[in-house]
This record gives sequence, C-alpha cells and structure tokens, in this order.
Amino acid sequence: MYKEKRQIAILGSTGSIGVQALDVIREHADLFEVYALTANNNVELLIQQAKAFLPEMVVIANESKYKQLKEALLGLPIKVWAGENALSQVVESEPIDIVLTAMVGYSGLKPTISAIKAGKIIALANKETLVVAGELITQLACENKTAILPVDSEHSAIFQCLAGEAGNSIEKIILTASGGPFRTFSPEQLVHVTKQEALKHPNWRMGAKITIDSASMMNKGFEMIEAKWLFGVKTEQIQIVVHPQSIIHSMVQFEDSSIKAQMGLPDMRLPIQYALSYPNRIFSSFERLDFTKFPVLSFEEPDMKKFRNLRLAYQAVEKGGNMPCILNAANEIAVEAFLADKIGFLTMSDVIEKAMEQTSFIASPDLNDYIQTDAEARIISKNIILN
Ligand code: MG
Repeated sequence: MYKEKRQIAILGSTGSIGVQALDVIREHADLFEVYALTANNNVELLIQQAKAFLPEMVVIANESKYKQLKEALLGLPIKVWAGENALSQVVESEPIDIVLTAMVGYSGLKPTISAIKAGKIIALANKETLVVAGELITQLACENKTAILPVDSEHSAIFQCLAGEAGNSIEKIILTASGGPFRTFSPEQLVHVTKQEALKHPNWRMGAKITIDSASMMNKGFEMIEAKWLFGVKTEQIQIVVHPQSIIHSMVQFEDSSIKAQMGLPDMRLPIQYALSYPNRIFSSFERLDFTKFPVLSFEEPDMKKFRNLRLAYQAVEKGGNMPCILNAANEIAVEAFLADKIGFLTMSDVIEKAMEQTSFIASPDLNDYIQTDAEARIISKNIILN
C-alpha cells in the first residue's frame, strides 16, 4: 500500500501536535517524508519548517500572510498556496499517503472530508471533526474504503488494545481522564479560577484550546463522542474514569471480562508515531515508564455536577442530529471568550447550555446543515455572551 517512504501531509503543522509530528518524522527520515505543511496563522514557524523539511507544498490559511510566505521561500522548490480552499485541494494530491489533521476545532471538517474522498488515510488529531459530524465522516470513510487512525492518546490506546482482536466484540471502553487542573477544586473555587490556572495542565503539554477543554472536561465529553464513532460503540458502553496519573491511556473490556490497557508516560509523540507507522511499531527514543516511580495508580468517578460540560456532551450525543455540532460551536466561542477574559470559567457552561436550547435542531443533518448550524450556533453564542 505504501511507497518507499510514507508521504505525509500535516494540516496544522505549527500547532502542538504538528510540531511533535515533525519531531517524529525527523527521527525517522528513512520512513517518512513531509509532502505538505499547512498553518492557519503562524507564518514565521511555517517558513522555518518549510526550510527544514522542504515539502512539495505549503499552505497558509490566512491569505494576508501569503506574500510573506511566498517571499521567504523564493528560490526553493516549494509550491506556496493560501486560503481555506487551498487546504482542501492540497490534501487531494496524488502522492500523499497519510493526512494528519492537527488543526484546531471546526476548521478541520472540510479538509478532512476532501482527504477522505481522495482516499487518503486520516491520522485524526482533530477530534472536533468527529464531534461535529461523526456519522457523516465515518460513513464517508467506509464508502471510500479508507481508514481513520486515531492520534488522540486515549483513542490510540483503545486502537492499540484492539490490535489482534478482529471479530471479538467490545463489551466496554474505559476512557481515562486526568481530571485536569481543577479535579480537586470545590464548585465555589471554580467560580474564580483564572485562565492562567486553567492553562496549567498537570500531565500533558498541549495547545491552549484543548488545555481549556481539559480543565472544563469538555475534552473528555468530546472524546466520548469521538470513541463512539471511531469504534462503533454505544455511549452506554463507554465508561469515563478519572485517573490522575495519566499512565493508563485507556482500556478495552471484552466479552470474556478480560481488560486490556495501553500504558506509558504521557507523551503525544507515541500516538502520533503509531498512527504514522501503523500497523508497524518502530523504535522511539522516548523516556520509558518505570512502574516503581508510580507506585500508585488511582481511579475515581468523574464529577458531572461540577463539570457541567461533560454532562452537556452526554446530552448532546443522546439528542443526536446536529446537537453535537451546536455543542462544539458554542464551546469554541465560549473558550475564545474565556481566553479573552470576557467570561468566567463556569459561564462557559451557561453559554453552551443556552446555545443548545436556542439553535435550530435538525434530526438528520447533511453537510450543508452542519455548516449552517455551526454558523448559527456561533452567532447565538456570541449574543449570549454580550447579553
Ligand atoms: Mg486525549
């Protein structure tokens, strides 16, 4: 299936996942080659990466940065494109084997659809794509006979547990959660937490948006929805368990009661590398887990009263249709407002809850419905914040 070197397109190469993916590719230059790099805004880093990896093409989504990018790469054999539509075109390029979707939020939807339609393997780091349109995406992947390989550490863990289990049905997925920086906070304390506190994740080093989602546990709600679509299970088959040490990245329980877990130190490079090298395991220089340094692995139930976003995610997926799309759009606006100091930490849940009540519900949405829902839910969420 693969040519000599796997040709990789990284959408969102300047973000946390993109940068770590390039680390993996650098360590395995004999196996992987960068075919395309794309960034939203960070043109300086994109220029550096393009000079270091010499991809066939680069795209900057923000068109006002095109001139700067073009001039900086003048004389190099790199095609330079700009704009949102270019993202969707680039992923269709014939030589690309794997498209790593590592952009933030809803922006991942359209290029992911283009890549699937072009028959590319998707290394999925953009979980919002499956939150917004999981049914549509998984159906498209099936029709185009291509695979969606998870990069999210929990889903990579589940995927690794399922290796060699073809035909054996999943009884339950045990999705682990660190609980984030506010796990032990009282509801009263949560009222006053600052963005600086929310941005300090205890175990994982990640981008700002996902770090806030982890603090509010919306990230785990999204991951529950992501797991439902990736592994074809019902939400009742997914148990979220808080595991503050983040050593067990998730587990699968089979019909015979046996549970398989995937473990390791928290390092996103491993799930990225596994998605790129799948089905092979290849050497890594990552630090090894020493169990004697973690004498206690503990587990507790998530507090859905305190972390309302998690409850809202369950409500959205139970309602179905375009409700998870509304959940995602409202959350993106709420996180943006929280990061801009416009609303408090707990107000984010108020915004999302109201947007879910006020945005038009569609039971069986198509792609256009999702696009319209996203736009409508954003306007409604912004109005809720203003009032
Ligand atoms: Mg995760």
